[in-house]
Amino acid sequence: MRLDDARALLIGGGQVAANKLRLLLGRCHDIAVLGAISDPEITQAVASGRVTHLGDAIELESVRTLLPQMRLVFAATDEFDLNREIAALARAAGVAICVVDDQEPSTFITPAIIDRTPVQIAISTNGAAPVLARRLRTQIEALLPDGLSRLARFMQAQRSWIKKTQPDTLIRRRAWENFVDGRGAEQALRGEEGAARKSLEDALNAVPRQGEVWLVGAGPGDPDLLTLAALRLMSNADSVLYDQLIPPAIMDRVRRDAERVFVGKKRSHHILPQDNINEELIRRAKAGERVLRLKGGDPFIFGRGGEEMEALVDAGVTVRVIPGITAASGCGAASGIPLTHRDCAQSCIFVTGHARADGTLNLDWPSLAKKGQTLAIYMGLSPMADLCAQLQAHGLPADWPAAVIEHGTRADQRVHVATLGTLPALVAERGVVSPALTLVGEVVNHRREIHQF
Ligand code: SAH
Repeated sequence: MRLDDARALLIGGGQVAANKLRLLLGRCHDIAVLGAISDPEITQAVASGRVTHLGDAIELESVRTLLPQMRLVFAATDEFDLNREIAALARAAGVAICVVDDQEPSTFITPAIIDRTPVQIAISTNGAAPVLARRLRTQIEALLPDGLSRLARFMQAQRSWIKKTQPDTLIRRRAWENFVDGRGAEQALRGEEGAARKSLEDALNAVPRQGEVWLVGAGPGDPDLLTLAALRLMSNADSVLYDQLIPPAIMDRVRRDAERVFVGKKRSHHILPQDNINEELIRRAKAGERVLRLKGGDPFIFGRGGEEMEALVDAGVTVRVIPGITAASGCGAASGIPLTHRDCAQSCIFVTGHARADGTLNLDWPSLAKKGQTLAIYMGLSPMADLCAQLQAHGLPADWPAAVIEHGTRADQRVHVATLGTLPALVAERGVVSPALTLVGEVVNHRREIHQF
């Protein structure tokens, strides 16, 4: 809220009021205090002429007449009901009101502030835990470099010439990012303005004119399982193409200004065919964008990331691939089922249950229906009955262990343990929904109850 041309009214004269006065001093054009003053800080502010004392008595009628001149009011008396009455008046008059330690009638709250003008960081717990907010402030303060104000002022001073030199917003932003991540920022922090300016010019000239595509594995769904590289690229992207495997908790970590394009495919209901996705990626990269292609799990495991990479590289686009935790690893860890085990599983096969156009599965059943190994079946939910039947037809017993991990690693994860004979009925009965991963093999018997990460 702009205050340098505003009048503020502080009602109350004790220590609680003094805390709020400190926020206003030096920020607010004109400050008035109403109420008997007991706090020495307020006494001093009045004596020095920085604050006007309007009198000891707090009459609601006089508050009402004062309100139209005020932009904001703090009700900081030690009487709960009086504060609320003041709040009601202020609200009726359309004036911003903060009742100290009483959020319900307030129209604004005061956060803990880190002030390194022009950089300001406000920390709020929405009134729930002011002590926590102050503790966080201390922790964040400790992370901030000393010359932060100086750096921000330097950057501000460069804006007009850089805008004239380079009209393209994308290129300017990229140059700024390189500057902030690099030597230039260090120089500006130390106040070496000439050197910093040179670094900024270099950064501006070094920006590549072409965009890139980043094929990034987002893991199985829990944002804690993102890699540092994924997070870094997520916060730098100009646009993001994503599908239904990416939950909102992960999308929340993508740069807020990045354009979001949903290219999701639901089975047998293609929203955007693969060719169109490839074309879109190529078009955007050629227009200079840094495009984040966010894919569930690992981009190179059943995600058609390979096809996208081929199309992009063949079209001359720069591609980076960031691996992710694939569903099998994530689901194994989150359900307490190891994927291999010295006693019973010397190998683990990742296999897709995605049916061909005619609805049948085309898998090498004799090699899958073996003991001594684990099957991790992706996209195996709808062909579940066929899968379990084929594995038995090719030699695995009906009581062979099998499990389905539904929404693995997510808050609503469910684990369904059964056998090849009973799994299809269990999955139907429990209404299991996608995404779900099927694990087949004796490793399922080694499952233990473990704690989530
Ligand atoms: N590239 C992804 C797989 C894409 S195929 C990866 O590496 O994980 C989509 C299939 O992955 C789904 O049908 C499901 O079988 C599996 N899958 C993805 N995320 C999952 C999750 N959180 N829990 C269970 N299975 C998941």
